[in-house]
Amino acid sequence: MSTLSSSEKIFDVLIIGAGPIGIACALECKKRGLEYVVVEKGTLTNSLYNYPLNMTFFSTSEKLELDDIPFISINPKPTRNEALEYYRRVATSNKLYINLYESILSVKKVENHFYITSNKNTYTSNNIIVSTGFYDIPKMLNVPGESLPKVMHYYKEAHPFVMQKVVIVGASNSSVDAALEIWRKGGDVTMVIRGSEIGDRVKYWVKPDIENRIKEGSIKAYFNSEIEKITEPEVFIKTPKGTEVLENNFVIALTGYKPDFNFLKSLGVKFSQDGNYFPIYNPETMETNVGGIYLAGVICGGLETHKWFIENSRIHSKIIAENISKKVNTLQN
Ligand SMILES: Cc1cc2nc3c(=O)[nH]c(=O)nc-3n(C[C@H](O)[C@H](O)[C@H](O)COP(=O)(O)OP(=O)(O)OC[C@H]3O[C@@H](n4cnc5c(N)ncnc54)[C@H](O)[C@@H]3O)c2cc1C
Repeated sequence: MSTLSSSEKIFDVLIIGAGPIGIACALECKKRGLEYVVVEKGTLTNSLYNYPLNMTFFSTSEKLELDDIPFISINPKPTRNEALEYYRRVATSNKLYINLYESILSVKKVENHFYITSNKNTYTSNNIIVSTGFYDIPKMLNVPGESLPKVMHYYKEAHPFVMQKVVIVGASNSSVDAALEIWRKGGDVTMVIRGSEIGDRVKYWVKPDIENRIKEGSIKAYFNSEIEKITEPEVFIKTPKGTEVLENNFVIALTGYKPDFNFLKSLGVKFSQDGNYFPIYNPETMETNVGGIYLAGVICGGLETHKWFIENSRIHSKIIAENISKKVNTLQN
């Protein structure tokens, strides 16, 4: 992997975000001889790096591959560590130009050029690919006490919760994985679930496990329930039978994440008006309503963050690189 200084260069494309899909875009741009650079605000694949340490993907490894570069795993479904290893090797072996620990702050379009400012550099580019994902902004509970230090919106590992009373909010893969892991390491776990059952997208091999732990009472669960308020020693849960007050040490709210809509708005990207905030783009090119700005990866799903994942969005890279390549060739001929 190499870094690239901006100097006076005009890039064909600047890619914002070095998640799996930003890396896929870089590979496709490189293949077509486009002048590109990726700018990433954290480490390489920053979202994956921040996933729970013992997380297992729901996809098999070949579905997470980029550009048919083999992803070999010894497990039926790869782990976070294996994925980090894979994407790291793809980026370094292909000597992709990626500038890490650099945040894109603003973009200004003047005629056909974009002037892009980061916290370290300025760039000029004819096109931009936004592949910034959704993992940086949690969907908040918006209840009193949510800013207490005992409340968290990310889960890393079980050890800090040993012998503690932990409320986990949500019934998705992340919530279920955290509940099972913490309970198995000796935490006292209560789940607070808005719906009437465990989410139907929970990994098929994990779902019976959590359902059986709830049935036998090892993990407590309040269905059709929501957090009302959090205080230092307690948590208040609104249940169909009235408010329950539980003694509590930690609340882990794994209620999902959302893309940075303000950043997209600042670029001039428009959204659907149906409450889902689907960004507007042409699915045949992935170009947004702002000519020269493309979207790639899970950011395309707006608030419906389960719509796109690596498996089905890695194709965006090819579509976009082909489109930009055509534009560049037309200009040169
Ligand atoms: C717990 C979990 C498990 C998942 N399991 C699977 C699975 O099994 N299979 C599957 O296909 N998908 C899975 N997904 C979905 C998908 O893998 C991830 O969301 C994936 O990370 C999406 O890739 P991406 O490149 O679109 O976005 P991300 O990986 O989120 O990458 C976006 C990058 O942009 C950077 N960035 C953001 N803003 C800026 C800025 N202003 N300037 C510079 N950089 C910026 C971020 O730091 C980040 O590195 C899972 C998601 C989660 C949360």
